[in-house]
Amino acid sequence: MRNTELFERAQITTPGGVNSPVRAFRSVGGTPRFITRAEGPYFWDAEQKRYIDYIGSWGPAIVGHAHPDVVKAVQAAAALGLSFGAPTEGEILMAEEICKLVPSIEQVRLVSSGTEATMSALRLARGATGRDKIIKFEGCYHGHADALLVKAGSGLLTLGNPSSSGVPADFTKHTLVLDYNNTQQLEDTFKAMGDQIACVIVEPVAGNMNLIKATPEFLQTMRRLCTEHGAVLIFDEVMCGFRVALGGAQSLYNIKPDLTALGKVIGGGLPVAAFGGRADLMAHMAPLGGVYQAGTLSGNPVAVAAGLTTLKLIQSAGFYDNLTAQTAKLAQGLTAIAQQANMDFCADSIGGMFGLYFSKEVPTSYTAVMQSNKEQFNRLFHLMLDGGVYLAPSAFEAGFVSAQHDDAIINATLEVARHAFAQLN
Ligand code: PMP
Repeated sequence: MRNTELFERAQITTPGGVNSPVRAFRSVGGTPRFITRAEGPYFWDAEQKRYIDYIGSWGPAIVGHAHPDVVKAVQAAAALGLSFGAPTEGEILMAEEICKLVPSIEQVRLVSSGTEATMSALRLARGATGRDKIIKFEGCYHGHADALLVKAGSGLLTLGNPSSSGVPADFTKHTLVLDYNNTQQLEDTFKAMGDQIACVIVEPVAGNMNLIKATPEFLQTMRRLCTEHGAVLIFDEVMCGFRVALGGAQSLYNIKPDLTALGKVIGGGLPVAAFGGRADLMAHMAPLGGVYQAGTLSGNPVAVAAGLTTLKLIQSAGFYDNLTAQTAKLAQGLTAIAQQANMDFCADSIGGMFGLYFSKEVPTSYTAVMQSNKEQFNRLFHLMLDGGVYLAPSAFEAGFVSAQHDDAIINATLEVARHAFAQLN
């Protein structure tokens, strides 16, 4: 009852009772769980019920919750002061680490949220090219900056409205929205107006309309067209960066974007995000150039301590091999269980990210994913939740596995799933 009490109380002073829409369980129904603590692969709600957590704070908790090294680093940094508004050596170390791990990033600027990172990258692309038009893809979510809040994914899809009210049409009239994985449409658009396009922004592995992988051809064509037409290619790796591989999706696809947006993992659970890329582009940023961007808490020392420690931990030997294998084990295990139960269900994974689909085949487009059976997902979600497994509370979000999800945790999850699928049928 405590979760219900808290939810009712929260709704008095906070719209919908939550500070980010998907947390409200609007799509799946029922009462959101109020979390009191987390450790390793688990978190506990206000009724002391333990869950195996498959959202990992929507990506950041890749080394598991409350990793002792991260907690220690945060405590040590906090003891030295919480924020200075002046530069620190930690920020240099963080920038050096990012540039080392993601070779397309020659220079980087730290910000506090993924929204800021993509919004700033967009401004930079427009400032550097002197062009206004941008291309994004339906179902990709790039945070909630006005120009990008068109046919976006994540909470917008979950709530069933693809765009937000409060965004003047004038603010989005330069945003062209194309179909994800539709290479021909991209070619045609560049042919028609290539000299007006400032940038293409894409989630190279989309995680905000469930998990959808880009085809190599789609991204390769995008790279070629941007180069040919002088447009900036922005990879939004806020979610997939340091999640699908140490070098991000760009290392898996072997494609060098001009700019990259990062977030989530690089903050290790505290607010750090970043955008960076070609040094000649980054030279347009204030104070060197005319593209303005700033932040009171940018490069915050406590947040940077959490991020730096996390970036060190993910470089340990075999980290991504293990993460990838465990995530694949989960996806394959769930698929096998669903097949035994004769359900139209499949699952897919890449690195530490997975997708669950109530459809016959793994979708490769927004249209296909929207045809999956949302009602069945919602029932599965609640059966798993009752069994102590916390999946993303929406059929249109990806799931996340941490390094602490060992065989015992995956097997325990599959056991819960076995019961759940048996009841679904
Ligand atoms: N880009 C992508 C790909 C994301 O997944 C998200 C958040 N889910 C964002 C941008 C926005 O990040 P934030 O929520 O930190 O503003």
